[in-house]
Amino acid sequence: MRYLSEYRDPDLARSLLRQIRQTVTRPWVIMEVCGGQTHSIVKNGIDRLLPSEIELVHGPGCPVCVTSLELLDKAIAIASRPDVIFASFGDMLRVPGSEKDLFMVKSEGGDVRIVYSPLDAVQLAKENPDKKVVFFAVGFETTAPSNAMAVRQASRGGLSNFSVLVSHVLVPPAMKALLNSPQNRVQGYLAAGHVCAVMGWEEYEPIARQHKVPIVVTGFEPVDILLGILMTVRQLERGEAKVENHYLRAVSREGNRPAQELIEKIFEVTDRNWRGIGVIESSGFRLRPEFAQHDAEQVFDLTDMKVSEPSSCISGLVLQGLKKPHECPVFAEECTPQTPLGATMVSSEGACAAYYSYGRADLLSGARSNQDDPE
Ligand code: SF4
Repeated sequence: MRYLSEYRDPDLARSLLRQIRQTVTRPWVIMEVCGGQTHSIVKNGIDRLLPSEIELVHGPGCPVCVTSLELLDKAIAIASRPDVIFASFGDMLRVPGSEKDLFMVKSEGGDVRIVYSPLDAVQLAKENPDKKVVFFAVGFETTAPSNAMAVRQASRGGLSNFSVLVSHVLVPPAMKALLNSPQNRVQGYLAAGHVCAVMGWEEYEPIARQHKVPIVVTGFEPVDILLGILMTVRQLERGEAKVENHYLRAVSREGNRPAQELIEKIFEVTDRNWRGIGVIESSGFRLRPEFAQHDAEQVFDLTDMKVSEPSSCISGLVLQGLKKPHECPVFAEECTPQTPLGATMVSSEGACAAYYSYGRADLLSGARSNQDDPE
């Protein structure tokens, strides 16, 4: 398939691996920010093909995984109401809340529907004027334009029965927060191409400069990722720290200006609580006050919810690159995609799901024996 097969070319991949081996002289820790990249790395065994000096750690770029438990419990409370049709992308339905997930709400009679676009939810609101239709607006900067479009359509169409439960998170503030952490191990970033397709890469330049980390914008296919790693390692070995864009087929420096303008009209920046990580300043979007009637958090009175994370889940450490999924004591035992204890085992972009799906259970015996070792 054109535009795909060339980015999966084995000869090209081998050549890039050879160049990486020839370039690296000492250990480096590189974080791929996006969960889609994590899945591609684990699925294609890229982490195992790299020279031992390069450690890839998995970042927080899975919006399903970082949606706060409190917001998820709010979604569950809203979806349980008899006057509500709750619309969501499918991967949010199995994410465990404090006591249940959205699938359980559906099985108990809640009107929970899987949609493929926020505009489907707007249509539901048109067709069901006697119901309150709520769309779970989860995502990074990538999904913000379509969610903004849905709110604008509902507002212009006078659909007062349509609202969104907003859980938008922003990538650059999370990258900065990880670098500012005293536990930080990240020395270089692979930035997410699809986020940069919307937002451009200008906003990464101050991060690279201030924190002295190379940032390479790359895509999701094996050749994309290997080239991103090679460019990052070259910078690290030379002592450089700049932003480079290798995802030229989709990303420009300034990004998609019309999409950014639409986002700007509907959303404003706010602090956001990231599941397992905590509150990161200015790391999310919320609706502007003029769209309050479409803001589900204001439409439904759901303040002061008490939440409790399962104590065994270490997904917060996984999302910060401090632990690998197989180092979780319940990975592939109590926690599987069928019985997930944390969001990173549910989402199609979650690191735990990637390790489980692509046969990393072989890592378990080593990890477990290390945990058991009193030394
Ligand atoms: S394996 Fe399950 S419990 Fe462990 S960190 Fe991953 S999601 Fe959480």
